[in-house]
Amino acid sequence: MDVSTVYCPGCNHKVRLTMTTEHRAGHANLPEGGEVVCLDFGEGCSEGACPLTGRPGLVMGVRLAKSHLPHAARTLTAHCEACGQVAEMEVLDGTHAICSLCESTNTYVIVPVDAEHSIAVTRS
Ligand SMILES: [Zn+2]
Repeated sequence: MDVSTVYCPGCNHKVRLTMTTEHRAGHANLPEGGEVVCLDFGEGCSEGACPLTGRPGLVMGVRLAKSHLPHAARTLTAHCEACGQVAEMEVLDGTHAICSLCESTNTYVIVPVDAEHSIAVTRS
């Protein structure tokens, strides 16, 4: 994996960028197009646009989650609105999480059950 370390003005520290190697079936004549993935995507990055790629921050979080590259991520367990399964989801930010089964982005809210426990509830 080719990783380059660059300074990110959005995070104010150095982040690791890599490229995905995407094989697009049926378009063999097109050049192999990769996408920039930031391995240091944080929950704060989902607000606004990523200064390094110009893409919405949330898109960068989805890219990282779908890349299956090793990275630190918080997860939660919730019912997926897309595939209907109770699945482990990778947290993108305070309201978005991506389903590990179908890779759909869910919007969730944390609902407190009692003083110590809370559950994640998805909504469409
Ligand atoms: Zn799902």
